[in-house]
Amino acid sequence: PAPGSDLHGILDFWNGAAPDAEALAEGDRRLTWSGLADRVSRLAAALAADGLRPGHHFATLNKNSSATIEATFAAARDGYAHVIVNWRLSPGEIEYVLADAKTRILFVGAEFLPQLEQVRDRLPHLTKVIVVGGDADEYESYLASAAPVPRSHRPQPDDCVLLLYTSGTTGFPKGAMLTHRSLGAHCVSAAEAFDFSHDSVNMVAMPLFHVGGISWALISLWVGARTVLVRDVVPATVLERIRQERVTHAFFVPTVYEYFLATPELDQADLSSLRCLGYGGSPMPLPLMRRCLERFTSDFYQVYGMTEASGVFSVLGPDAHRDPDRIHLLTSAGRPVAGVQVRVASPLTGEEVPSGQTGEFWIKSEQVMAGYWDKPEATAESFSDGWFRTGDAGFVDDDGFLFVRDRVKDMIISGGENIYPAEVERVINQHPSVADVCVIGVPDPTYVETVKAVVTVTSGAVVDAAELIAFCRERLAAYKCPKSVEIVQELPRTATGKVLKRELRKAYSKSTDIS
Ligand code: ATP
Ligand code: MG
Repeated sequence: PAPGSDLHGILDFWNGAAPDAEALAEGDRRLTWSGLADRVSRLAAALAADGLRPGHHFATLNKNSSATIEATFAAARDGYAHVIVNWRLSPGEIEYVLADAKTRILFVGAEFLPQLEQVRDRLPHLTKVIVVGGDADEYESYLASAAPVPRSHRPQPDDCVLLLYTSGTTGFPKGAMLTHRSLGAHCVSAAEAFDFSHDSVNMVAMPLFHVGGISWALISLWVGARTVLVRDVVPATVLERIRQERVTHAFFVPTVYEYFLATPELDQADLSSLRCLGYGGSPMPLPLMRRCLERFTSDFYQVYGMTEASGVFSVLGPDAHRDPDRIHLLTSAGRPVAGVQVRVASPLTGEEVPSGQTGEFWIKSEQVMAGYWDKPEATAESFSDGWFRTGDAGFVDDDGFLFVRDRVKDMIISGGENIYPAEVERVINQHPSVADVCVIGVPDPTYVETVKAVVTVTSGAVVDAAELIAFCRERLAAYKCPKSVEIVQELPRTATGKVLKRELRKAYSKSTDIS
């Protein structure tokens, strides 16, 4: 299928070319291309019978399931947008997403009914809920409820297919409108970057509500390879599935690699089929990367991407991982994939900064979303002259490798100097008593902001603020050193484990007001 045309064309193409080949594996269940195409056309018929029309939104709140893939193709077929909701969110946050997206129909995994019950009364747009799986399953009978009808809607390349919400690390989650064009462009460039072919077997273990789940799945569907869905990431089970299915490609976030390394079954696991192990979604700690390189023989690929880019837009390939002369590249997010242009701009003026200097990554590519749903201001702020402002800060070296350093929103401006917290965090993390650290700016009458470190301590260790500040003084320019240090039990995190700096900023700007 050609990029930019029609995501549903994937199904038409492979159903025509290889109807009996296996498309999806989910536990013991297998779906061929013709089986998948048939289910999608029945789902589309049922949605139309329920009054859904092009431009309408429906949602899924469920763990990884073939039903989520079917719903995505049904959306692509008839011009709907499919909202895949993060099931790790609290009921209030789930309500926020469903209400923000004006969701009309919801497919809900049986285990999430209690959360839904708490908020259902407050969702005026929601007219129908269909339970997927469990004893109360309604999905299979829903598929059987309407007679298939021919496709009436001709999709436009810029129609929204997936409305995926960002992780909400820097603010409220925003709905990124991903289109036939953006998702198709991603499939093409990612298939090339990770060397996918028709014979690949792709494991999708990351949640489909994240772009690292659904877009990763779309790559193998695009090339007509087999896709293996994992519902719960139990490390020993995942390792066994890799052997059984002869998985060639898989992507996991850094924490999951931690789990693997702590799993006794790793020693006996047969991972000989693996060719591409992707990791990313957040920075990978270097010590963890080193241990992975020792324990896994597969090629590693670092993935740098974001919801708004339909997935990955920069990849650090296998060559850079095992080259002793270029070990520093392990802290790089690699080079842009085909079809993606990157420039590094001053977040304040928008002007390009010289090579090697830190600024904001701006990207231009067909992969970029159409905009944020129902957020014209946020959309306008994010685009400049056809470039998308990623909100990430970093630099590009002379060979074109990207180094992601921080979030622009987290940048601290103190006495006219720009300070990237990640640099300060790296130094404090080297202190043996520090378990974890987060550096933020807090309001200050003289300097506008000053640097504050919020620290958790390794068990049994004793350390005080003065010692940590002195430690920084030996290693960093004075203006980058924290003026205050707070020792806490725990750092606040998002449902997916990213530190919530905005909460810390809120907490500590309040305490400054009081004092
Ligand atoms: P929000 O936009 O709501 O604040 P978020 O940016 O965390 O949340 P996502 O789109 O899920 O939401 O995550 C994309 C971000 O994750 C990137 O902007 C980047 O900061 C980070 N990221 C992704 N991959 C990498 C990587 N390989 N190295 C470093 N950071 C990464
Ligand atoms: Mg973001």
